[in-house]
Amino acid sequence: MNPNLNALQEAVRFMHARDRFLVLSHVNPDGDATGSALAVAMMLEQLGKEYMVVNEGETPEKFHFLPRFNRLRNLSKNPLDETFEAVIAVDCADESRMGDVRSLFASGAVLLNIDHHPTNDGFGTVNLIRTDAAATAEILYDVAVAAGLTFNEELALCIYTGLLTDTGGFRYSNTSPHVMEIASQLLRYGVKPAEVAERCLEEITLAHIKILRLALQSLELSHRNLVASLTVRLDDFAQAGATREDAGGLVNYCRNIEGVEVGVSFVESEADVVKVSMRARDRVDVSAIAKELGGGGHAKAAGCTIRGSLQEAKEKLRLALDRALGVSSNE
Ligand code: 5GP
Ligand code: MN
Repeated sequence: MNPNLNALQEAVRFMHARDRFLVLSHVNPDGDATGSALAVAMMLEQLGKEYMVVNEGETPEKFHFLPRFNRLRNLSKNPLDETFEAVIAVDCADESRMGDVRSLFASGAVLLNIDHHPTNDGFGTVNLIRTDAAATAEILYDVAVAAGLTFNEELALCIYTGLLTDTGGFRYSNTSPHVMEIASQLLRYGVKPAEVAERCLEEITLAHIKILRLALQSLELSHRNLVASLTVRLDDFAQAGATREDAGGLVNYCRNIEGVEVGVSFVESEADVVKVSMRARDRVDVSAIAKELGGGGHAKAAGCTIRGSLQEAKEKLRLALDRALGVSSNE
């Protein structure tokens, strides 16, 4: 028997047992977070349930093509005068990733936690955590099958978007046979792969190129060229006319440099708040470093937010990388 079957059935029971749900993903949502939240929304619709999908902030406009995108509520702009007894959280590794949406939980609310991060601490009432899954959307595919739901083009598109983005376009090492089997099924339900890839992976904003140009000037190599990092300052955002969303993906340029084991980006999101993103090749588990610094993620892609100056954030990372690589930053 599939060892996950019990957990899947428990998740299905959770949805059947209640009538109205708060659905949420993590702060600064990506393709998997957004695709997964909307996939849950569509599953709830099929089950005849009511729901609200809420995020602490804005969802990137590039995901506009997803069904029910207009139902995503930005809590910071549209406060809600309601609390929820039942919550479904997707792609959130820990409670803090849910951000301010937690203020909408009724006291004693029950929470279904569906996620694939190895750093997930099981904060739900019911936890469906599969660290072997490439994306939370992959788990949702199995939930939909376990619930006996009908796959239509809209549900398929949400799930496919999560798979595509969290595997970097089916390129990362999490691209398993199961991922490819699911993806192939989803194409049969009508997903148009070139269109999704164009919107999620290919198309970039002009502001992204402008902020990339500034960020590349800050490129630094350390630890015998095993670490490459870049920095985006608040000033850079202003100069490039860029939002934080425009700065997404910069860290990949660092990791992709030949011979580099760890790529790091330091993005100043507010004064004395630094968002750190890490991408690893083989030698280092960056989720362990991120966890040490209050964040989390996957072995090859992780992040954290450090309160302090850019200099302080860099110093913390420098020391953690000295230990992880066994090489001093000055070498
Ligand atoms: P990114 O660097 O693209 O923001 O995130 C890379 C991975 O690390 C994603 O799987 C993301 O969910 C996770 N991650 C990023 N920042 C944090 C954080 O502050 N806390 C936790 N728990 N995970 C994070
Ligand atoms: Mn994910």
